[in-house]
Amino acid sequence: MTETVAERSPTRSADRNKILELDDVHTYYGSIHAIKGVTLDVYDGEVVTLIGANGAGKSTTLRSINGLNHPRKGTIRFQGRDITQESPHDVVKMGISQSPEGRRLFPRMSVMENLEMGAFQRNDKSGIKESLDRVFELFPRLQERKNQRAGTMSGGEQQMCAIGRALMAQPKLLLLDEPSMGLAPIFVERIFEIVVEINKQGTPILLVEQNALMALDVANRGYVMETGVIALADDAKALAQNEQVRKTYLGES
Ligand code: ATP
Repeated sequence: MTETVAERSPTRSADRNKILELDDVHTYYGSIHAIKGVTLDVYDGEVVTLIGANGAGKSTTLRSINGLNHPRKGTIRFQGRDITQESPHDVVKMGISQSPEGRRLFPRMSVMENLEMGAFQRNDKSGIKESLDRVFELFPRLQERKNQRAGTMSGGEQQMCAIGRALMAQPKLLLLDEPSMGLAPIFVERIFEIVVEINKQGTPILLVEQNALMALDVANRGYVMETGVIALADDAKALAQNEQVRKTYLGES
């Protein structure tokens, strides 16, 4: 009998909690049925990656979770609580924050001001300071450039700033949408090292990526999306060895 993903997961042990749960989620843009019954889980402590080609529905899955595009059918639970119809504002407040595709910084504002924006729903001054210290420890470059306008930094530095801003909300779950997009190889490697570091510090991560090879390298488990559905789900190592995945996403013939 074939094992299910959950049975094979390295994180299935009873002492781990399911932090995020999507059950048969359907999301539309007007009449366009963009995601068609997505079911996926993230457990405490995990990096889970969602890979797939352009237009497969990865960003829409994140938009469904973060409250920007509410599903018409299906359920999303965060720490056991139904958040399917929550507003983006409340989703952040509950502990899910995202570094969006394309970074979406405020280009004329300084690095520091961008980071402070990430903490806009918090008023625990000492906690905010701790988060800022954590961000500067992860990204010393941001500390060096804290007074620089965000829009004048390199793509890699802007990506760091976007991830830093998401961390300023002290998330219980971090969503990353294409953090490696458009970056020079040296920055791509650095960004994935940072993803691992953030996770080691205790933050579970749902990582959307087109760079399947790197994503599967840092993730515990992965889901492959194709035209709005989950085509494959497995341990990241197994997916990286999967012939179909290697042909389609890793460029092997
Ligand atoms: P990418 O890597 O290009 O962001 P993706 O896997 O994240 O791809 P989505 O952006 O989620 O894919 O798109 C899923 C589907 O929804 C695609 O068919 C896309 O054309 C459609 N779509 C996305 N955004 C909109 C929108 N604002 N209006 C209409 N259709 C949209």
